[in-house]
Amino acid sequence: MFKKILIANRGEIALRIIRACRELGIETVAVYSEADVQSLHVQLADGAICIGPAPGNESYLRAERIIAAAEIADVDAIHPGYGFLSEDGDFAEQCEDCKIKFIGPRSETIRQMGDKAMARETVQAAGVPTVPGSDGVVRDPDKALQVAEKIGFPVIIKAVAGGGGRGMRLAHNAMTFQKEFAAASNEAEKAFGNGDVYIEKYIEEPRHIEFQILADEHGNVIHLGERDCSIQRRHQKVVEESPSPFMTPDLRQAMGDAAVKAAKSCGYWNAGTIEFLVDKHRNFYFIEMNTRIQVEHPVTEEVTGIDLIKEQLRIASGGRLGRKQEDVKITGHAIEVRVCAENPGMNFAPSPGDISLYYPPGGHGVRVDSHIYGGYTVPKYYDSMIAKVIVVGRDREIALARMNRALNEYLIRGVFTNIGFAKAIVNDPEFARGNFTTRFIEEFMQRTPKTLFESKLH
Ligand code: ADP
Repeated sequence: MFKKILIANRGEIALRIIRACRELGIETVAVYSEADVQSLHVQLADGAICIGPAPGNESYLRAERIIAAAEIADVDAIHPGYGFLSEDGDFAEQCEDCKIKFIGPRSETIRQMGDKAMARETVQAAGVPTVPGSDGVVRDPDKALQVAEKIGFPVIIKAVAGGGGRGMRLAHNAMTFQKEFAAASNEAEKAFGNGDVYIEKYIEEPRHIEFQILADEHGNVIHLGERDCSIQRRHQKVVEESPSPFMTPDLRQAMGDAAVKAAKSCGYWNAGTIEFLVDKHRNFYFIEMNTRIQVEHPVTEEVTGIDLIKEQLRIASGGRLGRKQEDVKITGHAIEVRVCAENPGMNFAPSPGDISLYYPPGGHGVRVDSHIYGGYTVPKYYDSMIAKVIVVGRDREIALARMNRALNEYLIRGVFTNIGFAKAIVNDPEFARGNFTTRFIEEFMQRTPKTLFESKLH
């Protein structure tokens, strides 16, 4: 096992990794920007190195500074967390070249699956169903229109380098297609420095159901069941749960098998997620793979009892999976809410600032993964997510009541938050029935009085 690792991230995920390392007796080195001097990850790691000014592209996104910090601190490995450099094949390759273990898959796997069109082709070849769409990238607008007409409208135009719900455009008919096609490509060029796009059929009223997989470096692959992430605002997840209320044993078997196949198709190792859309007839289609740990990993941990960060560390240090597929048991029901410093009353605008009072929920079955505290200042430079509330109960009804109770207990003063909004979702009868698709939030916002989820600045 590693003796010392560097954590190339900040916020709650940096803390989460420190916690796993502590329990395994691994020393940790934090890196931080000038905006994060007061951060808990800096205070709690065994060592910390400043890597630059506040903006991400001058600190957490600077591969050469992180590698330099890793060399100075003489670490065995780097954990990239999620976001920032976690899916950057060049960064992983630099780690490999410097003989610093990258805690994740090989750099070539990251590149292969990070290109969404190439990922589609890779899993397709292994017999995993994908959304009907173009054969790879389409550049010529006229050809693209022909492809769209062949697939049948509506279609979705997606950036091969897309992520975080960005770089996607919906086209309802041939009239609007070319405008959307150009817009998608331009947006992708601006956001990702790569304007390549591909086309997929727009699946109507789907659920987003993803499978957590674990793979060691000796060819063993298992899945740890699914997470339902259909509750999204602008293609960004807000509430996640495991198991999915829509799941059946047969569907889990089929999708789990497909997820393992997808991981094997690219020679994957470490923790990863295979994302699928599932239509109302329970047909499922691969959409993409995330080659890293995900924000919503705790719901899987709570229903399987498996610490995913520890597994990542064990795998990266050369260990074998300690269990077979049949040893994985799903018990109970877990739900996660992403708590963000944002103002639902102002179209969810970020709300950085000083936290004047902080009291997180606790008690039986409640877990809060967060880096904030009373007196902490939420910087304006990074993602607005400040905490994750995860609850687990014997069944979904208990978990829902517990989430409602936990959110009611949560006191955060000084910044606007989406806690009221999340509470309104959790208390919504359609949500309680488990009857929802990725369009849930859009419909919910239309039928819910705004006052129900307004956030007040105390
Ligand atoms: P990103 O990498 O930006 O997260 P994804 O490909 O994972 O993008 O898609 C994000 C979300 O967008 C999905 O969870 C789903 O809600 C919606 N989506 C993506 N592809 C389709 C599709 N073909 N049909 C309908 N919705 C889609």
